[in-house]
Amino acid sequence: MKRFIHLFIFICLVAFQAEAQLYNNCTTPAAEQVMLGMYDPASYAATTVINDPNTMCAGLNSRVSPDTLHAYLDILKSFHNRNSGSDTSSTVRGFGAARNWVFSRFQDISTQNENRLIPSFLEFDTGICSINRHKDVFAVLPGTDTTDKSVIIIEGHMDSRCTDLCDTACVAQGMEDNGSGTALVIELARVMSKYSYNHTIIFLLTTAEEQGLLGAQAFASYVNRHGIKVKAVMNNDVIGGVICGHTSSPPSCPGYEAIDSTQVRLFSNGGFNSFHKGLSRYIKLEYKEMLRPIVSVPMTVSIMTPEDRTGRGGDHIPFRAMGYTAMRFTSANEAGNADVSSGSYIDRQHTSSDSIGVDINGDGVMDTFFVDFNYLARNTVINGNAAGMIGISPQVPDFTLTTTPGNLVITITQHTEYLNYRVGVRSTTNDWDSVYTFTGSLTDNIQVDTGGKYIVSVASVDDKGVESLFSREQMVTALPTNGIAPLSQQPRNIELLQNKPNPADEVTNISVLVNSAISYKDAYISIRDLAGKEVSRSKIELNNGVNEIQYDHGYNMSGTFIYTLFIDGKAIESRRMVFTN
Ligand SMILES: [Zn+2]
Repeated sequence: MKRFIHLFIFICLVAFQAEAQLYNNCTTPAAEQVMLGMYDPASYAATTVINDPNTMCAGLNSRVSPDTLHAYLDILKSFHNRNSGSDTSSTVRGFGAARNWVFSRFQDISTQNENRLIPSFLEFDTGICSINRHKDVFAVLPGTDTTDKSVIIIEGHMDSRCTDLCDTACVAQGMEDNGSGTALVIELARVMSKYSYNHTIIFLLTTAEEQGLLGAQAFASYVNRHGIKVKAVMNNDVIGGVICGHTSSPPSCPGYEAIDSTQVRLFSNGGFNSFHKGLSRYIKLEYKEMLRPIVSVPMTVSIMTPEDRTGRGGDHIPFRAMGYTAMRFTSANEAGNADVSSGSYIDRQHTSSDSIGVDINGDGVMDTFFVDFNYLARNTVINGNAAGMIGISPQVPDFTLTTTPGNLVITITQHTEYLNYRVGVRSTTNDWDSVYTFTGSLTDNIQVDTGGKYIVSVASVDDKGVESLFSREQMVTALPTNGIAPLSQQPRNIELLQNKPNPADEVTNISVLVNSAISYKDAYISIRDLAGKEVSRSKIELNNGVNEIQYDHGYNMSGTFIYTLFIDGKAIESRRMVFTN
């Protein structure tokens, strides 16, 4: 029996290796050379270099066009069905026609911008709905400086679907999911190709998201296999709709036909010291400080706790799983939860109803649109501005964090060459409480009123005022102004921390701080309602430092709950948490 198991494992390994070696290639050699950083930036230099952050930000805000986005969606819908298994030979119908149109659009944009944008396909083999060879389509805007070869990926999936995952005959215009993200990526390629960024930017449209994130998986495998460094991945999926459906995936929207055209959600993995959350905070900060003062319609940028909506996923996940910093933009309101197998499903997602709008009186002219082109344009600008700032950003510093009575003390230890630094301090939510700037010194004191725990990260600022992405996070228990921590805040070897965020919608992070290594057999977090009934139990590993689990409480289950840390059967500490959704 044991031999059979060994044989089985051996066969699995061989199968896995065979899978790892499946065909997966970039079709344009010049695009590959640029992604590898093996090129002369002068060959792609613009005659007029525009790289000033404020000029680019204002330009993006004025040039991203709701009408152009609308026009892209009209063309995308004309392909009738963009299922990854649909026609690849027709020039007017199916996924093949759609991806060829995107390729030619990238080529046109390149022609209009001194041939600086390089279109390509990524061809890869995997069986999807009876087709074995598939193509992601992308375009590469070469960076002006190859000292740091890391690239930025702006992406969305281009494929669509109906109820049946392999129905290639149905009408699957996929306008919200994900014509909206596709139009956003093409529009950013158009607008950003005029500017010059230090880092290479990749505009990527994937296939087979609907069949299991396969196009993004193929691209992530490709960059990983070639050792291409990736600074950030920004996925855009369901990003133009504003109307809440009968259903929506939790965290859900307010209810049928509720409209929200001024909020966008940023989903990313992890809590403490998550670079994915750090990227989401950066996107929000760039919006608040650069765009918010100049836009006509202000937006709320919400940093969500989980990596995606409950039970859902997207193209950022395969990138994150391979160790790249990645996040997802999604509309505040969604028309559907994609639960097409339930007989009563009447919403738009993953059905023929995901169309651009409705011609109510049958005169051939749309009377109402499901995608709000102005909202889509606002999200396009938020994404492009953040990606652009990362594209010209300085090096990410490192730091030490200590505390003196009433102060946090931050000292920059790596990349000490800049004049200005920023310090992000957070305590109770996914976002910073404040972001401070300090000048002309490598050490800064930040006054804090009380003791308690503060989470800190830092960024460099260059001479044009552009921030780097923020560093890793560190946590400290601050000394209050009198220098004496009350008993409740005195460091203990094992501390159960207050969950973040609290109150929570439905997902929250629970952390245990271990100040010096312990030996134990078994540790878990037990969650009970106020009547003492256990509603959940999750194992937690207790290593030196911060240990975290993410707890998904579920939608529509508001109330106060008690969470308790158990080590080897003994209750160590309990705290309260509140769910409001
Ligand atoms: Zn989607």
